Amino acid sequence: MEIKRNINVKELCDKIINGNVNALSRAITLIESNNYSDRAIANKILLNFKKSVNNSIRIGITGVPGVGKSTFIEALGNNLIKIGKKIAILTIDPSSSISKGSILGDKTRMTSLSRSENAFIRPTATSNFQGGVARNTKETIFLCENAGYEIIIIETVGVGQNEISVSEMVDFFLLLKISGAGDQLQGIKRGIIEMSDLIAINKSDGENINNALISKNEFEMALKLFPRKKSNWTPKVLTCSSINNNGIDEIWNTIKNYVKITKKNNFFYRNRIEQNKKWLIQIIDSSLRKSFYEKIKVKNKLEKLIKKIESNKISIFEASQNILSEI
Ligand code: GDP
Repeated sequence: MEIKRNINVKELCDKIINGNVNALSRAITLIESNNYSDRAIANKILLNFKKSVNNSIRIGITGVPGVGKSTFIEALGNNLIKIGKKIAILTIDPSSSISKGSILGDKTRMTSLSRSENAFIRPTATSNFQGGVARNTKETIFLCENAGYEIIIIETVGVGQNEISVSEMVDFFLLLKISGAGDQLQGIKRGIIEMSDLIAINKSDGENINNALISKNEFEMALKLFPRKKSNWTPKVLTCSSINNNGIDEIWNTIKNYVKITKKNNFFYRNRIEQNKKWLIQIIDSSLRKSFYEKIKVKNKLEKLIKKIESNKISIFEASQNILSEI
C-alpha cells in the first residue's frame, strides 16, 4: 500500500528536527513501506539529514517474554525523563511477521511512558526482504537522533536471530534475566550472554532477593569464561526490581560509566565507525538484491530455470551463470 501523497520533504524534515512526533512517525512509516514511491521519499528524507548525531547512547535490551522488559524500560525511562532526557524506544518483535500475532504487542505496554511527551515508543515492522529489520531499525535510530532523542533503546525478544543484528547497531547491550528457574544459563543462547555488557537479574524483590543474588553469582562465574571484550569493558551483573524501581539507577550509572570508559579508550567511536561501514555495505547489498530480483526479466527467467532444474535438464551452475548474466 502506498502511503505518501504530496509530501513536502523539506517541511517534514524541519518538523522532525523541531520534535514533531507525528512527522517522525510518518517518516518511519515511509521507511518501513515496501512501496517503491514511498521508499523513494524515505530516501529523500534520510538524505536531508547530513550527519550522524554522536552524543546519543544506543542501548540494546533483550530477554525472554515475561522477564520484565517493558516494566524495566518503563522504570528506566521514567527515571531518565525525570533527569531531563528524551528517550526513544524501538521494539523489534520477530513474531509479528510470522503469525500476525505479537509477543510484544498483545498487551498495553509501558503505559505511563507512552503518555510522556519525552518518550517515543515505536514497534519496528518486520519487512519482507532480507535484512529489512536491521535496515529499518538503523534508519529509524538515525531519524530519532536527529529528532533530538538522546537515549535510544532497541528492545528485542531474546529468542531469535535479531539480537545479533541489534548488537551491531547499539553501543551497549543489556540482557535481562530472572532467577529461580534453576538452570540459569539455559533458555538463552550462549552468544547472547557473550555479547552482553550487563546482565540484570530482574524481579529481585520479596522472596526472590536471595535467589537473585545466587543467580548473580552464577552469571559472574559464567562470564569469567568468556574472552575479554574488544571494548576492554568487563561485563557486569546486577540485580534489580523494576516494579519497585530498585537498582535501576545503578544500572543507568553502569551504562554511563561504560560510555565514559569506552569514549576515553576510543572504542565507542571506533565501534560506531565499524558499524557504519557495515551499514553502508548492507544498504548497497540489500538495494542491489532487491532491484535485481524485482526485474521482470529476472523473475521470468528464474521461474523457467527452476522448472528446468526440477526436471534435471540443467545444472545449478549453468542456471546460475545464466541468471547472473542479467546483472
Ligand atoms: P516482558 O514480556 O519481558 O515485557 O515482561 P513484562 O514487563 O510484561 O512483565 C511480565 C510480568 O512480570 C508482569 O506481570 C510484571 O508485572 C512482572 N514484573 C516485571 N518486573 C517485575 C519485578 O521487578 N518484580 C516482580 N515481582 N514482578 C515484575
